[in-house]
Amino acid sequence: MIRDHFRVLVVDLNTGRGSVALVDGRDSVAGGSGLAAHLFMKYGKPDRPWNDPEQPLIFAIGPLTGYFPLMSKTVCAFKSPYHDQYAESHGGGRSALSLRFADLDALVITGRATRPSCISVGSRHLEVKEVHYLWGKDLYTTGKMLRSMFKGAGHRSILRIGPAGENGSAFACINVDSYRHFGRLGGGTVMGSKNLKGIVINGDGSFPLNGSKEYPKLFQDVYTKLTDTDMMSKYHDIGTPINMAVLNEVKMLPIRNLQRTTDPGISEITGEKFAELALLRNAACAGCPVGCIHIGFVREKFHSDYQYLYRQVSYDHEPIFAVGSMLSVENCFAVLSIIDVAEKVGLDIMSAGVALAWATEATEKGLISEKETIISLSFGDSEAYKQALQHLGQATNEFYRLLGQGTLKAAERYGGKDYACVLGQEMAGYATGEVYFASQALGLRHSHLDSGGYSYDQKETGKDPAKAVDFLVKDEQGRVLLTSMVACLFARGVYTDALLADCLRSVGYGTLADSLGTVSKNIQQLRWKARLATGYRPEDVTIPKRFLEITTGKGTMDAAYLVGLKDHYAKAIRALGSSET
Ligand code: SF4
Repeated sequence: MIRDHFRVLVVDLNTGRGSVALVDGRDSVAGGSGLAAHLFMKYGKPDRPWNDPEQPLIFAIGPLTGYFPLMSKTVCAFKSPYHDQYAESHGGGRSALSLRFADLDALVITGRATRPSCISVGSRHLEVKEVHYLWGKDLYTTGKMLRSMFKGAGHRSILRIGPAGENGSAFACINVDSYRHFGRLGGGTVMGSKNLKGIVINGDGSFPLNGSKEYPKLFQDVYTKLTDTDMMSKYHDIGTPINMAVLNEVKMLPIRNLQRTTDPGISEITGEKFAELALLRNAACAGCPVGCIHIGFVREKFHSDYQYLYRQVSYDHEPIFAVGSMLSVENCFAVLSIIDVAEKVGLDIMSAGVALAWATEATEKGLISEKETIISLSFGDSEAYKQALQHLGQATNEFYRLLGQGTLKAAERYGGKDYACVLGQEMAGYATGEVYFASQALGLRHSHLDSGGYSYDQKETGKDPAKAVDFLVKDEQGRVLLTSMVACLFARGVYTDALLADCLRSVGYGTLADSLGTVSKNIQQLRWKARLATGYRPEDVTIPKRFLEITTGKGTMDAAYLVGLKDHYAKAIRALGSSET
């Protein structure tokens, strides 16, 4: 639906009622990331804690969702239990198209339900249903029950949390339609703090396709680029796990709590190995012809007479790095079985894997023992890690409760801060060098996707912090435009600024199309304003010593360069956050 404003459903869980708000700003914040920050500034309480019931949980889509392929993401924004500051997390599945067909640009949830509840929204309905019987249930059971309770198969998207989100873990994710996640920075616990076990978005409406005569041709051109060229084939074929072997080869893969950056044992958990042995099928987010989601299987013997059950588990580079190479688990089925447990309890697998890698090294160094970890942790022991993930998700004791707030918080209590692999949050699966470390540590989402620092490290030979930070800031601006359109970032090579402008124009967003440069700058500044308003101090960010101890294919790390990058980037962030939008 083309409109010059946003149609936002605001649900108040205190009363169980909602209303539709028409919010201005289409031509200045576009949608997605921009809309989420705009709505946080409108509904959020920057100076109150993350779990204040009035804090909003926001889901926003973009102007091209439903009109062009791969405009398939939803941006989720909230005040994070991880750092009590503004946070964004992106997820796909069917969430974006369901919101579009529910005739909503965004969903904002405030308040706290008195009993465990589930929200169901559609183009003409809102229901807040009490679901006390789902509280404590794992993600698989919750999904099964929600699917049977709510109509709309094929049109609906189901967002849900597991026990980790109920137990206050800052690692709790929101699962989307089984195979996608709002993974990072604790969105699951924001839902849990609102007594919200699930959100069902039913895309039960329809709208006329009022595009221009250029629209069908443009759509076909984009579709052809995505499917008939090799621009996206990497994502469909082996998928993101192709990075495992590539990074291992150039000595840039985090291994064994980042004690190494290359290891021959990785050959058993490469993307190629997963494809050969464990791949069942590919899946895709709604509206995506690429299908990068790779689904493998875990098999469990449930009876001595060779009786087995199996479950389908999605995998990507990041989960394989987090519970494979970081934990020295070098068997693809063992990796999948660990991912399976993290899914059940509703943990962000990246954060959880990196936290357990720290716990294992802390055990080796004698800082903690079974008294804290309950089971003995050692690198490569997948069975122990499966139990540890259960404890982490259930917050079984003080150690796991603290670890679930962040590795650095546990390290403050038990020691071992030097080798906590934290860059703003638990690291992503790249050990490319100083620019990447500064970029994840200070970046707004603390994500490897905030900007292309990992590729800058690999391509650039010079060490000029000002030049590198200039790249990070410009690259972030381009990515922010894409995430405001809610384009999947895998399509960033296809959706150039010029193509985005053409797409917008073809469906009727001419004014927005004509000002994308100003709009993307505006959004970039707005997001930083939101983050800084909630207490972020980029100049205080520290990078643990472990990141300087590694050697990559490019050589040893340069401490002075890293300090220069951090200083320049912190100043750039301050400048972005204090400029007029
Ligand atoms: S490329 Fe993958 S993550 Fe991106 S929209 Fe398609 S299926 Fe979803």
